[in-house]
Amino acid sequence: MNIHEYQGKQLLKGYGLPVADGVAITSADEAEAAAASLPGPLYVVKSQIHAGGRGKGRFKELGADAKGGVRLAKSPAEAAANAREMLGNTLVTAQTGPQGKQVNRLYIEDGADIDRELYLSLLVDRETGRVAFVASTEGGMDIEAVAHDTPEKIVTLSIDPETGVTPTDVAALNSALKLDGAAAQDGEFIFPTLYRAFVEKDMSMLEINPLIVMTNGRIRVLDAKVSFDGNAMFRHPELEGLRDKTEEDAKEIEASEWDLAYVALDGNIGCMVNGAGLAMATMDIIKLYGAEPANFCDVGGGASKEKVAAAFKIITQDPAVKGILVNIFGGIMRCDIIAEGVVAAVKEVGLQVPLVVRLEGTNAELGKQILNQSGLNITAADDLDDAAQKIVKAVG
Ligand code: ADP
Ligand code: MG
Repeated sequence: MNIHEYQGKQLLKGYGLPVADGVAITSADEAEAAAASLPGPLYVVKSQIHAGGRGKGRFKELGADAKGGVRLAKSPAEAAANAREMLGNTLVTAQTGPQGKQVNRLYIEDGADIDRELYLSLLVDRETGRVAFVASTEGGMDIEAVAHDTPEKIVTLSIDPETGVTPTDVAALNSALKLDGAAAQDGEFIFPTLYRAFVEKDMSMLEINPLIVMTNGRIRVLDAKVSFDGNAMFRHPELEGLRDKTEEDAKEIEASEWDLAYVALDGNIGCMVNGAGLAMATMDIIKLYGAEPANFCDVGGGASKEKVAAAFKIITQDPAVKGILVNIFGGIMRCDIIAEGVVAAVKEVGLQVPLVVRLEGTNAELGKQILNQSGLNITAADDLDDAAQKIVKAVG
């Protein structure tokens, strides 16, 4: 689960970490008062969307020479003028895709006097099975570009879960970020505290880009991208209120409500499968025959007819879907239930694209019978290979 920058900063502030004062607003009328409540004399108006690269992003509705999604202002009135221009418009950044994201909320933040912009993140390093810090002196820009052009400027440090962040780790991070004096002293508090926040809140990602050294030599968290491990959300009722469903894919929300695993992809064949292994095999074989999956929806074991119907509807909602492949191996899941669910869904929402169904396992014959007698235009397949060839041919 992802949250907004202002929420991430509030959370970090609760741990005593240095973040600027700020106020989140949803209407431009609130902007001037919000800015006036801050110390000044510099104010920053920041678009709150679940995507990075906002500073360099551009608003679709505004001219190419208009400013981006993070703007500096020298007075509360100027902050308000910017807020009026930004709110409700669509921000396109390197991370939003060409369709962009509508800006419904702004964060008005106190401006910082920046000396240096650094990069610091925490993530779960799957190779070591540990939480790792990634640090670089090259902050404020696209870290992927830094990793590509100057990989030697990125330092990765994994933390021993037994000890947590040790003084040696702190020294290594201070050195990687070239911090000394007051900034290095700040590091002694900031690094272990970020680690504690990461572990306590079951984060999967905490990215601070940039972490800054201010002209007064102190450190501040200037941007915060926080993601939580979705599988651990049951342990954190306090985080539930941070979820912003308007930022999530509507189909993924609906799928999660039915306890279905739905993943959107870039191709044009929608896939309904049961089990992650079969999902992978189905996508591989679609690719083998020269097409690409648009998504897959895993109905799991023991799904009801209603759940199957919901899955089918979610798949067909995607306008990129030009054909559907239902590939089910009925072990616990019975093929007749799948067939009934598919027929019920097609009767409700119609079938605008070719549908190929491959059923195998428990009650497979009964399932095929239900499909054949439905009067619907469904192509039955004999096996996985046959099914993949048929659907790839059907979408052309
Ligand atoms: P994004 O990464 O989405 O572009 P950031 O929060 O990193 O958004 O802001 C982009 C840039 O704007 C920063 O690298 C920094 O130079 C500047 N900036 C952001 N917040 C402030 C602030 N409070 N004071 C001064 N400059 C800021
Ligand atoms: Mg940033």
